Amino acid sequence: MPTILTHAVSALGLGALFHRREVPGGIWVLGAVCAMVPDLDVIGFPLGIPYGHLLGHRGLSHSLAFAAALAALLVGLFYRRGAPGLGPWTLGLFLFAATASHGLLDACTDGGLGVAFFAPFANHRFFFPFRPIEVSPIGRHFFSGRGLEVLKSELLWVWVPAILLAAWGWMKVKALRDGQEAA
Ligand SMILES: [Zn+2]
Repeated sequence: MPTILTHAVSALGLGALFHRREVPGGIWVLGAVCAMVPDLDVIGFPLGIPYGHLLGHRGLSHSLAFAAALAALLVGLFYRRGAPGLGPWTLGLFLFAATASHGLLDACTDGGLGVAFFAPFANHRFFFPFRPIEVSPIGRHFFSGRGLEVLKSELLWVWVPAILLAAWGWMKVKALRDGQEAA
């Protein structure tokens, strides 16, 4: 997996595509949390669930169906009328994209097993042909030389694009506001 923070950052970058001034900050935090949730599946390792199992790491929780279900659940439970600045469908789309971005990033890493995008319907594990992100060592080995290499690849391939997207979203909102003030 890319490091968990990097998943959050990719969700925040995606948030820029949905950004409106009225949207409360908590919505972006929720998106970031959604992007981290799939890796809760690592509890399967101590429970003895094999990596390649449907419920193993990068299995069901990394699928598109899981992303859709999580988004639908959150909107259905808490945001039936949407949030300020985002209708329920748009909000659902953002939460889906944030959650699904996790598997997409994992499929761009150079290690482990691939991602079961189509679980529970098929448990085939996919990687993209383009895999620039180095897989993060799990747990305490993180702060090793290898950890730094991982961070470097994540900075380049996730953080920089996410920051550019966020800057673009911010400028778009600012331009809209300036336009409103001038009118
Ligand atoms: Zn993952």
